[in-house]
Amino acid sequence: MSSDFRSIAHVWPSVPTTEGAGVHLRRAFGFDEVPQFDPFLMLDDFRGDRPSQFLAGFPWHPHRGIETITYMLEGEVDHGDSMGNEGVIGPGDVQWMTAGSGVVHQEMPRGNAQGRMGGFQLWANLPRSHKMMDPRYQGLTAAEIPTATLPSGVQAKVVAGTFNGVSGPVKDIMIDPEYLDVAVPPGTSFEHPITAVHTVFAYVYDGSASFGGREVASEHVVLFAKEGGGVAVTTQAEPVRFLLVSGRPLNEPVAWGGPIVMNTQEELRVAFEEYQNGTFLKVK
Ligand code: MN
Repeated sequence: MSSDFRSIAHVWPSVPTTEGAGVHLRRAFGFDEVPQFDPFLMLDDFRGDRPSQFLAGFPWHPHRGIETITYMLEGEVDHGDSMGNEGVIGPGDVQWMTAGSGVVHQEMPRGNAQGRMGGFQLWANLPRSHKMMDPRYQGLTAAEIPTATLPSGVQAKVVAGTFNGVSGPVKDIMIDPEYLDVAVPPGTSFEHPITAVHTVFAYVYDGSASFGGREVASEHVVLFAKEGGGVAVTTQAEPVRFLLVSGRPLNEPVAWGGPIVMNTQEELRVAFEEYQNGTFLKVK
């Protein structure tokens, strides 16, 4: 492997936890990992096959200062918000929600005919200059997300960024992200360039592979080193599927209070005070 490829900084298993009104999920990284994944804050893997463990969902709650990116594999999430937006995030769909100055929403999972439901929710931080921007959605159906295929058989769904000349539909995001869902067949080497200084991680959710020379099993997150160019992944007998996500680090202070992430404790205090006294929403 060329020394230009990034080495591995850390590999962790995602950890079972509960969120919302009692949804059982696996957290790949979160509060305790700040600032290692900067500009990303959290990744939850909420795949499940027992409706009793997810139907309670994520009832009404606020967000400010971040983006929440929901990518569904199976089942559906009913979404509704304070601005009157309503919709369903179905299999293969992505909802890129920029909460900005504030959204109050609910996210309620439903299983498919087999009772299965699942996908991923990523939280990306907003820079200080844009934490109070107007809320915005980029909602993409599965059909709107292109798949790129390499001669090696590697396939990638391109949500954001560019893969082998195919660009994803999510645009104009402050951290200049790349978000790929990559499938590598057995016995295949895969390399992908990453913008210099961007943070990059992979979340393996099926199969296993060697990342930067290190064997990584399913339900593990791989944080690559800051130095170097691209990433290299090699499979042996087993195929692998993983999310590959990168973005420009913000290098700003993080003040994190549950669903609200600002730069200072005072900004957090104001946000929760506004939520209590009914002045939280700047755009209705
Ligand atoms: Mn939410």
